[in-house]
Amino acid sequence: KAKAAGRNTYRFFSPGMDAQAHAQLRLENDLRRALDRQELLLHYQPQINAQGRLTGFEALVRWMHPQRGLVPPGDFIGLAEDTGLILPIGEWVLRQACLQARIWALHCAARGRPPLRMAVNLSARQLQRPGLEAVVRQALLDSGLDAGLLELEITESSVMDDPLYTLDVLKGLRQLGVQLSVDDFGTGYSSLAYLKRFPLQRLKIDRSFVDGIPHDEDDVAIVEAIIALARKLKLQVVAEGVETEQQSAVLQRLGCDELQGYAFGRPQASGLIDRLLDTTWRDGLVSAPGLQTPA
Ligand code: C2E
Ligand code: MG
Ligand code: MG
Ligand code: MG
Repeated sequence: KAKAAGRNTYRFFSPGMDAQAHAQLRLENDLRRALDRQELLLHYQPQINAQGRLTGFEALVRWMHPQRGLVPPGDFIGLAEDTGLILPIGEWVLRQACLQARIWALHCAARGRPPLRMAVNLSARQLQRPGLEAVVRQALLDSGLDAGLLELEITESSVMDDPLYTLDVLKGLRQLGVQLSVDDFGTGYSSLAYLKRFPLQRLKIDRSFVDGIPHDEDDVAIVEAIIALARKLKLQVVAEGVETEQQSAVLQRLGCDELQGYAFGRPQASGLIDRLLDTTWRDGLVSAPGLQTPA
C-alpha cells in the first residue's frame, strides 16, 4: 500500500483502475511533488478578542496546483494523512508559520503593540509520531519566535486515539512554552476526564454550532455549555466560523473570549495581512461588526 511506501515512492496507473481511483492517484503523485515545487502556501485568518482587538492568526495551508489552481485543504489534507505526506507538509507549515509570526512580532514590537499569536493545526499523524517535540523546538529556534506566541491546535479524535501517549506529548510541548488548543470542539468525542488532565489553554467551538446562532436553540445551548465548561476548567474559548453581526453580538454576550470568522476577515496571504497591519488595523482594532467595543 502507498501508506507504507513512504514519501519518495510513486505509484503507477494500471488499466483496470476506474476514473475516480485514477484521479485520486494523480492527485497523490502531484502532492508528493508539491513541497519540492514550492506549491504550498499559507493563508492567515485573524482572531480577535471580545474588545475587537486583533490577538493573532490561524495559519491555514493551501496548495497552488499548476492545473487545478488553489486547492483548499479539505481536498488534500485527508490524502496527505493517508499517505504520510502530512509529516513533511505539517513540518513545513509549522516552520513557515513560525517565521511569519516572528516577522509580525517584530512589526508589533517596533510599534509598541502587544505581539500577535500564531495558531497552527496539527494532524493526528504528527501527534503520534515520535520526535514532534524536537521538530517544534527546532522551528522555534530557527525562527526566533517566542514559544508563548505559538499555539498548536489538535482535534479531539487525535487526542483520544491514545490519550496516555498524547498526554505525555502534550506535556512535553507545553514545557517548551507553546500554547495548546482543541480545534472543532464538540464534533468529536472527548473524555472530559482527559480534557481536565491535558495541559490545554483554549477550546475552539466548532463552526457547525456557531452556524445556528442565534436562531437554533440547541446550538445556543451547546455554545453556552461549552463556555461554562471552559470557565470551570480555566480554559479560554474561541468561536470559529463567525459570519454575522448577530453571531458576534451573541457570542460576546455569552462570554466567548475570542472570535474568528469571515465577519472579521477571511484567511489571506501574508502580503495582504501586512497591508492591513499598516492601514486598517494600525491601532490594533479590527472592524468588528456586532461587537460592543469600548470607545
Ligand atoms: P480548521 O482548523 O477548523 O480551520 C477553520 C476553517 O474554517 C478554515 O477552512 C477556514 O477558512 C474556515 N472558516 C473560517 N472562518 C469561516 C467562516 O466565517 N465561515 C466559513 N464557512 N468558514 C470559515 P480551510 O482553510 O478550508 O481549512 C479546513 C481545515 O483543513 C481546517 O479546519 C483544518 O482542519 C485543516 N487544515 C488547514 N490547514 C492545515 C494544516 O496546515 N495542517 C493540518 N493538519 N490541517 C490543516
Ligand atoms: Mg484549526
Ligand atoms: Mg476548526
Ligand atoms: Mg479542523
